[in-house]
Amino acid sequence: MSLKKADLLIKDGLVVSGHDIAKKDVAIYQGKIREMGSDLEGYDAKNTIDASKRYILPGGIDSHAHPVYDDKMDSYSIAAAFGGITTVIAFVGNIKSWGFSGYTTDVVKGFIEESEPISYLDFGVHGTYAAADEDTISKSISELINLGVPSFKVFMSYKQRGMMISDEALLTALEAASYEGGLTQVHAETGCCIEYLTERFISSGKTKPEHFLPSQPNILEAEALNRAGTFAQVVGAPLYPVHLSTKESIPVIRRLKEQGVELFTETCPHYLTLTDEEILKRGPLAKVGPPLRKEEDSDALWEAVSKGLIDVIASDSGGFTVKRKMAGAAAENIFEAPYGLNTIEFMVPMIWNYGVNKGRITLPKLVKVFCENPAKIFGLYPRKGVIMEGSDADIVIWNPSRIHYVNGQHGNTDYSSFDGFELLGMPDLVMQRGVVIIENGKFVAKKPEGKFVKGDPNATPYAPRGYKL
Ligand SMILES: [Zn+2]
Repeated sequence: MSLKKADLLIKDGLVVSGHDIAKKDVAIYQGKIREMGSDLEGYDAKNTIDASKRYILPGGIDSHAHPVYDDKMDSYSIAAAFGGITTVIAFVGNIKSWGFSGYTTDVVKGFIEESEPISYLDFGVHGTYAAADEDTISKSISELINLGVPSFKVFMSYKQRGMMISDEALLTALEAASYEGGLTQVHAETGCCIEYLTERFISSGKTKPEHFLPSQPNILEAEALNRAGTFAQVVGAPLYPVHLSTKESIPVIRRLKEQGVELFTETCPHYLTLTDEEILKRGPLAKVGPPLRKEEDSDALWEAVSKGLIDVIASDSGGFTVKRKMAGAAAENIFEAPYGLNTIEFMVPMIWNYGVNKGRITLPKLVKVFCENPAKIFGLYPRKGVIMEGSDADIVIWNPSRIHYVNGQHGNTDYSSFDGFELLGMPDLVMQRGVVIIENGKFVAKKPEGKFVKGDPNATPYAPRGYKL
């Protein structure tokens, strides 16, 4: 009998999927999973790893990434890989503060061209539109779907930064995207109220960190979510609100889902593990939009994740240096500081530690929210997000006994938003398409081999509506 070929055989690990955990061997050949099973036999493997007492997870997908500040795709992908991420989906579009300008389709093409030679991880893109793009949204959405970019973000906030689109443009985006099988993502906060309150705080000299949270109250997220969800309902389009942060949004999610809206929801690691105490301690370094909230919000979000009302956890990580966050008048005026946190590297370990270790979510749930669900929602499944025969060999060998004390993250940043936390459970090994990137806490990739991965609108849980109103 001739032996079967494998580049790597991972023996005796506990393979985790979105619904179970089972002890299996995994054979990898030419960058793909060749076979899985208990006690695989008949292999001539170049390498073998004994993974007993460790978990085998699909590589994580960071479906909310901003590799546009001090970290571009090169250093961002390195920090991501250290934390067990193997696919990054970046927001790209005509947004000045992200360093981009021009027609969104062209900006996306340029980003892919620039990022492919430098990224260590496979990456996808979400098209992103600003107020100035209102007349070209439909055209660009259609072009981007053909390029392999089936998801698009618009903002219901940030008017002064030129990002807030009108309600009419939101309806246009929802309809155009769903017609061809795409998905509209919204930053759901009521922009006019935030600007009104911010103006009031600034004009009365209230510009300290403690004034930031009340300038963006919880109810504004729930209001905008309700509005966007209602629009989606009217147009018959799927909707993906990003970075949900408040307890007030949970009943809105429940109503929309119950009424049959194809709603896919996301929160971020910082809303689950940090509170607005951080902004009092760290000032501009802890400024993010939406703001860090209260413990009761975190508790409600954990419950929503565990019950399946929240589908995805993603980083919303920027990649900032302290200098950039504190620049200009930011140290004196919290409203002048840029938005954003450095959460990418320790996102999965934080959720492991505070979710799985503390019994708030199960391990299959962790795989669901970081791997399976984002892969399905963004058209990457089953190539990504799952360990099964024929899938890309994007694999994390997770050591539940490994301890890490967070003190900064890799890449070009000089702090992590999770500095000071002690985490139990870290990746021992991270590989993409069979190539090892992280081994025993060291970066071992020889060259950037990340590729742009196309999202397939026919592989998502929402069907193209296929007709115009
Ligand atoms: Zn974001």
